[in-house]
Amino acid sequence: MTANGAISLDTDNLETALARFPRDRAMWIDGREIAAEETIERRSPAHGAVVTRVPRGTSEHALSAIAAARRAFDTGSWPHETASTRSRVLLRVADLIDRDRELLALMDCLESGKPIAQARGEIEGAADIWRYAAALARELSGESYSNLGSDRLGFVLREPIGVVSIITPWNFPLLIVSQKLPFALAAGCTCVVKPSEMTSASTLHLGGLLAEAGLPEGVCNIVTGYGPEVGAPMTSDIRVDMVSFTGSTAVGRAAMAAAAATLKKVSMELGGKNPQLIFPDADMDAALDAATFGAYFNAGECCNAGSRLLLHADIAENFLAELAKRAASVKVGDPLDEDTRVGALISVDHLGKVEAHIRDASAAGAELRVGGARLSSNGLFMAPTIVAGVTTSMAISKAEVFGPVVVALTFRTAQEAVELANATDYGLSASVWSRDIDTAISVGRGVRAGTVWVNTFMDGTPELPFGGYKQSGVGRELGRNAVNDYTEEKTFHVHTGPRTSWWLPRG
Ligand code: NDP
Repeated sequence: MTANGAISLDTDNLETALARFPRDRAMWIDGREIAAEETIERRSPAHGAVVTRVPRGTSEHALSAIAAARRAFDTGSWPHETASTRSRVLLRVADLIDRDRELLALMDCLESGKPIAQARGEIEGAADIWRYAAALARELSGESYSNLGSDRLGFVLREPIGVVSIITPWNFPLLIVSQKLPFALAAGCTCVVKPSEMTSASTLHLGGLLAEAGLPEGVCNIVTGYGPEVGAPMTSDIRVDMVSFTGSTAVGRAAMAAAAATLKKVSMELGGKNPQLIFPDADMDAALDAATFGAYFNAGECCNAGSRLLLHADIAENFLAELAKRAASVKVGDPLDEDTRVGALISVDHLGKVEAHIRDASAAGAELRVGGARLSSNGLFMAPTIVAGVTTSMAISKAEVFGPVVVALTFRTAQEAVELANATDYGLSASVWSRDIDTAISVGRGVRAGTVWVNTFMDGTPELPFGGYKQSGVGRELGRNAVNDYTEEKTFHVHTGPRTSWWLPRG
């Protein structure tokens, strides 16, 4: 940022970055690269330059991708491969992601506006998840029962569920598809993937890596385009067995309703309004750093953002004063600059929505402590913002703003803190800051959220499951059950020896 608050952008750096990968990309259907009649042009939200042109897939493309996935499942080899073969392919994909780390990071950075250093970390994280899925592939197993009598055996097989539709949002493009696809593949499923039309490049590039790694044709199909055209058939077509969706609660609800007509299994990772509860005995320096990180990481465009600060009244004022200093020191700027911490927001429409949330909160009597304004007229940058004096009757205390905006509320007792934490329809995650283990654990247990961090924030690892309570989602991703989620159980009852129990009287 310059002294007058404008963002300075390095155009030479941008040209070098853009020259590193092709702007025109194709979809992947049945092992072939497919174009469409129309393309969708994606401009960098930071620079305004064209980054990629991806096919505007139609419902026909989605249907032919579903047909390819169905064929690959019903008649192809992938569902019948050994765990060893499947895991080898997944490990090769992980190595290829590592090989192309810089390209993939540049694609995600330029299409989404996120800082390049952060994007690199996400690509590394994605490769790690593919390796974790490869390990789980070797562990996939059922159960057996030899305690049913000497003439009876029972066993339960885990079989791949079938064709899986994978629909992903724009905020963590390669990372989120990597929380789903490798586990579905590890189970032996075939897939149709639809990334957000704004951030399709890294997912399409992944399509090439899958082919290079030896994944058979038709096992993973990638269709780009808009939700109502491409995503809708993926949630309603009878040939699809499961829908794995990450996105907003509103679209997730519609996708789930569409899937219900044919009773598909669904996995939904949706929004959040995640509380960070700070008690007076917390390590304040650490809590302040985590609160700053939680509020502004990925410009707040993060389902897990710590967007709701719940402060004990005794420390609230000092905490907010220090947080304001830290917010003002966050480097907002060119996503290609290695030191940038907060890049551009995803789109002008989205920036407008974030600003509207802040305006409405001010009109409702909340107090804007810092930020609240965009930092340049053309790039979509926004100042890290703190809205204090918020009460539970204000819309901003409950709505997912999805921007660099944190709201602050205060509490007096642990019980009040828990009640405040639970006072939204979401339940994705929460963090509790206290040196007192009793407080930390009992408050954490009271909060209805899928993840609770204690004296840390937004740590993640594939070993631990992730997902939401309430309207933050259905089901869990990652963790030791991540492959099981993409399976059906088949029960075998086996009788050995002569029949011992006759239904009709024996004459
Ligand atoms: P959206 O819900 O708008 O879109 C998500 C995906 O669904 C996109 O690929 C979109 O396509 C597609 N889609 C849109 N309409 C339909 C439809 N009718 N049928 C099927 N698919 C459809 O979310 P955003 O992309 O705006 O992402 C932001 C949201 O994602 C936030 O609310 C955030 O909280 C949530 N999120 C949740 C996470 C979690 O794990 N809990 C993680 C990351 C984000 P298109 O964009 O092309 O129209």
